[in-house]
Order: sequence, then C-alpha cells, then structure tokens
Amino acid sequence: MNYDFLSPARIVFGWGRRHEVGQLARTLGTRALLVSGSRTLDANGTLSEIEQSLRAAGVDFVRVGNVPREPEVEDVDAAVERVKALGPGPADFVLGIGGGSALDLAKAVAALAPQSDSSGVSDYLEGVGRGLKLEQTPLRVLAMPTTAGTGTEATKNAVISSTSRRFKKSLRSDRMVPRVALVDPQLTVSVPPAVTAATGMDAITQLIEAFMSRRAQPIPKALCQQGLELAMPSIVEAVRNGECQWARVAMSHAALLSGMALANSGLGLAHGVAAALGVHCGVAHGLACAVMLPVALRVNSEVGRANLVRLAPLITGRVWRPEDAAVSAVIEHIEELNRQLGIPAKLSALGVTAEQVPELVPASRGNSMSGNPRDLSDAELSDLLLSLL
Ligand SMILES: [Zn+2]
Repeated sequence: MNYDFLSPARIVFGWGRRHEVGQLARTLGTRALLVSGSRTLDANGTLSEIEQSLRAAGVDFVRVGNVPREPEVEDVDAAVERVKALGPGPADFVLGIGGGSALDLAKAVAALAPQSDSSGVSDYLEGVGRGLKLEQTPLRVLAMPTTAGTGTEATKNAVISSTSRRFKKSLRSDRMVPRVALVDPQLTVSVPPAVTAATGMDAITQLIEAFMSRRAQPIPKALCQQGLELAMPSIVEAVRNGECQWARVAMSHAALLSGMALANSGLGLAHGVAAALGVHCGVAHGLACAVMLPVALRVNSEVGRANLVRLAPLITGRVWRPEDAAVSAVIEHIEELNRQLGIPAKLSALGVTAEQVPELVPASRGNSMSGNPRDLSDAELSDLLLSLL
C-alpha cells in the first residue's frame, strides 16, 4: 500500500456549532477576509451572527467578495485585487461562508492574493492559460458550507468558469485545502428542496465516483462507504422536510466525506460531462451529476463490477445474490431515486440539443474524466450523450 492523504487540519462538525466561529477564527489570525454567497445569509441574520462571534473573539473582518453564482474569472480577479489593496499579512485569513460557489471563490482568492505575479486566475487554471504554479503559500482558509453537496470545504481545488471563453476549469494545489472546515448542518435548513436534491445528488455522485475511480485510495474508500450509508436513506427526507435534523446532519456529513474522498481519489465520467454541461448548456453542477450518474454507472459496470457489488448493500439497503443482480439493482435504485427527487432522466429535459454534442465531447475531458475507471472514445462519448436526448 502506498498513498498520500490530504484533508483539512481541523474539522469541526455539529448542529449549531457555527457559534464557535469566533474562537476558531482567532486561531488563524486577527483579520477575516470574508467571502460569502447568496443574499439569504444577510437576510436571515446568519452573517450578522457570524460577525458578532468574530467581534467577540477580537477578530476584525472585511467583506472582500460575494458571489450569487458559480464563480467566473472576473469574480476571482476582482476579489483578489480587493485583497491585494488591503496589503494582506500573516494576521489575515479568508473566511468563506456559503455554498460551493462561495467557498470556491474564497479558496481561489486565498490562493492568489499572496502571489507576486499579477496575472489573473486564468493563467493558473488547468489547461487554460500559462499554467502558472502557486509560488507563495496561500492564505489560510476557514470554510463554512451552507449547502450539503460539493464538499469543497475539504478539497484542494476551486472550480472557476468563463462564460465568454467557454470553460469551466480548476485551480488546484495541495496547499489549497482549507485549514479549518466548520460544518454546521443547521445552516442547510433554509436550502430549498430543489437545491437540496441537486446538491445531495452531487455528494452521492462524488462518493460513488471517488470509490470507483482509477486513482481510488484506501482511506477515501472507507469514507465513501460511510458517506453512502448516511446519504442514501436521508436525501429524500432532507428534501421532503428541510427542518429534519437527522437528515440534514447525515447529508452534511456525507458531503464533507465526499469532498475528502474526491480530493484524494479523483472522480469520473459523470463529473467530466457535468463540467461540459455547465459551460455549454448552463446546467447547474449537481443537477448535471445526478442526470449523468445512472448512465456513468452503466458504462462502467463491467470494469467497475467488483466495486458496485461492494457498494450495492449501502446504496440499495440489501444484499444481492447472485452478484450480477447487484449491479443492475444499483443502477435502477439510482434511477428511482432521481425520479423521486424530480430529477429528469434525459438531458433534453435540461435544454441540451444534438447540435451541442460535438462541443460537449472535448469539453468533458478534464481532470474528472481522467479518474473514470475506463477510457471512452470520442465516438462512444458522443453516442452516450445522444442516447440521453
Ligand atoms: Zn461534484
């Protein structure tokens, strides 16, 4: 056995534990550079609660970024400029609070603000610009997720898009894993049902793809199993009754585990195609993953058979004999789950057309696709997408 395992230095998890943010922040510095997500956090008083906790602990804060959508190159560059103008020093850290988009923006800002090269984020993204590497150590990050899905509070990348240049790529470095992940599932109570469904399916897709990835590692595999054991019986209840504490706790924990797993093991086909669907068809990440998951499982069912047999009891809640029955039971179970959650089975229901398929094929070939258990030719990928129209 031979592996590396990266994760946040400290994970603080529990219902209502957002109130500890001040004390935790104080261990990282005395000035929080605050990056946040949707206006709901302002409107429902969460941000002012957090600011009070910071103040009580003697931590100053400056708001440097706010993003209501998946972050674009311009969002990152503008926030980095704001931080650079503040002259960041050793007492500064970035506090990210929001969904995956806000946390990705927070991580990108923390990574780029200390760099002396004044290039924008594009030059640091995989497969886009000059391929620059981070020379200076990123600012430390305290990440507080308000959705249960991407697990970005525990990963080493930030996904950044460009609408004008039509890409969705990662800024990635081992040094970008947040120092502290403060996960309070109570923050997810206000997430509406459709978003709970899509983000929850993102976590489930991440748990399955990281388990089956060709770069799968032993510790993440254990985390994936626990994550699925929690998420599968909880997602429907979290969507149906957003105030249900056990379901919200289970989904937040599963999402955190999915982030730790994907950061170390990579992903697969569903995530590869999801990036392309995001850029070219404007499909939200979680929704794209959910629609792609059954077909990705089917494509990988032969080479990933042993893994699917191992996951079957966790996904379907029962043991299957003979083993062959387990593989089709897993796929049918996920299809049924999507139906229950109101997630369509076809990409055409999301507005994807046959004319878009030729550009979706190359756009699917990013880092995620490289973890898929088997290679797919362009023709195969194209046929697969067409079969979903
Ligand atoms: Zn994902």
